[in-house]
Amino acid sequence: MKRYVFITISRAKRGMIAALAVVCALAIVAAGGIVWQRRAVTADTGSADSDAGVRLPIIMYHSVVGEGSPRNDYQITASQLASDLDWLVERGYNTVLIADLIRYTRGESALPAKPVMLTFDDGQLNNLVYALPQMERRGMRGVFSVCGAFVERAERERDPSPLYAYMTWDDLRAAASTGVVEIQNHSYNLHGEKNARRGFTRRAGETRAAFQSSLIEDVSKMQQLLRLRAGVDAECFTYPYGFTYDGSWTLLRDLGFKAAMTCREKVNHLTRDPDALFHLNRFNRSGYASTEAFMKKLGIE
Ligand SMILES: [Zn+2]
Repeated sequence: MKRYVFITISRAKRGMIAALAVVCALAIVAAGGIVWQRRAVTADTGSADSDAGVRLPIIMYHSVVGEGSPRNDYQITASQLASDLDWLVERGYNTVLIADLIRYTRGESALPAKPVMLTFDDGQLNNLVYALPQMERRGMRGVFSVCGAFVERAERERDPSPLYAYMTWDDLRAAASTGVVEIQNHSYNLHGEKNARRGFTRRAGETRAAFQSSLIEDVSKMQQLLRLRAGVDAECFTYPYGFTYDGSWTLLRDLGFKAAMTCREKVNHLTRDPDALFHLNRFNRSGYASTEAFMKKLGIE
């Protein structure tokens, strides 16, 4: 009798265990399905916290001039800029700065929905005259990448023409103090001044060691000047002409930079990986394109 009872209970237990196992297996399958579905949904909407990474288009502007001035691949008019900014605002885009990307990759903060970055290269005075007020009016922000040799030219010449003059150190200090603009390093003198090296390009017959120490000297000199003359601690290096070489990003990282911008025309997909910030892609905004045609390339329609 005892034995029979034991067997009965044992059979009942086995049945319960089997039933529980089936329930658990179903629960695991269902949970997996939910996770998979959620992943698919976040990837589709491009939410700033998607597992697939954040979609970040970056626009590269140069000169912004008054109406009636000539347009070219590196020069747009103030009304073209206004049209671009309105286009982004109307579609719910939010501007971010390099500092926001650094905080994001460190896991310290999220990025806003639909992030976009506005960058202005070379440090022309017209960026201060036209671009800064237009961004400020719309609650937008942008990145100015400046070149030391051009700033020093502005210091010597003191030419107030926004058509071709550059910003002085005081101009940069004033721009940074608005909170609208972030200032970054575009080299001291690797950008077309007479006898200057053209970006990160190695000269014929130059050893790799000599090449690298020359880059370090130039880039560090600009970091010091930005700190001393404009009160700015630059965290991003913007490659002149977009030129890079196989050791460029690690050289910049070893100098203390947290990011670097190229001229590769691709949308970025940022993850929480901090090294990804050394390969930021950007789209050049030519003055020959309409806002609509340009934004289409970036997938902002
Ligand atoms: Zn440039």
